[in-house]
Amino acid sequence: MEKEEQHKQNVTLTRIKAVVVSLSLILLCSLFIKLSLHGFTYGLSWLVLPALFLGYLLADFITGTIHWFCDSFFDEETPVIGNFIIYSFREHHSHPLIITKDKFIEQDTTSFFIFMPFLYFATFTEISYLNSPNSIYGHFILIGVCIGTFCTNLFHKWAHQRNQNFIIKKLQKLGLILNPNSHKKHHVDHSRGYCVTSGLMNPILDYIKFYPNLERFIRLFIYESRN
Ligand SMILES: [Zn+2]
Ligand SMILES: [Zn+2]
Repeated sequence: MEKEEQHKQNVTLTRIKAVVVSLSLILLCSLFIKLSLHGFTYGLSWLVLPALFLGYLLADFITGTIHWFCDSFFDEETPVIGNFIIYSFREHHSHPLIITKDKFIEQDTTSFFIFMPFLYFATFTEISYLNSPNSIYGHFILIGVCIGTFCTNLFHKWAHQRNQNFIIKKLQKLGLILNPNSHKKHHVDHSRGYCVTSGLMNPILDYIKFYPNLERFIRLFIYESRN
């Protein structure tokens, strides 16, 4: 069977994903408007950018950690998760350009499903931000995490696509979204450069060998617990 046919997504699944993605984006925008109004009312607007950026970095770390885990443990033959989760990560190493053929809604949208309840409660729970200014900071971090995780697969795809428009190229050059040249490091050496949202966390995590050390620790723990 042709690779493209294998990748065709079930219509029902596409519709479900489209609904969840739309609802999550509506909630994200509603929360942003609610927070901005409260933030400016209470003079907390200076918190906005640092909190958003912190959340965005956190998204790079979270998605990088999932990427590392799926690259390092289990395999395509593992029951249940092998075919649904692990396969796409391993396939990306052997066929890096397949990702460029997928439309946004055909890519993995799990983060929209995971963060929708968090966005719902943050948007509709009545909180007095005046009495609890930390909440406004926490909710802006949540927005940063959502923006990053929602866009991870898109930014990863763009890093593999040629002939991007100048805005995407500029964002890639600034390092605000995954830069194609720095992402190449992961495709040369699969033990580094796991973060594929902005890739901003990669230099520090690679420098301290965070993921190889964590993997060694986990494998040692598994080995010890079996003996
Ligand atoms: Zn990988
Ligand atoms: Zn890649």
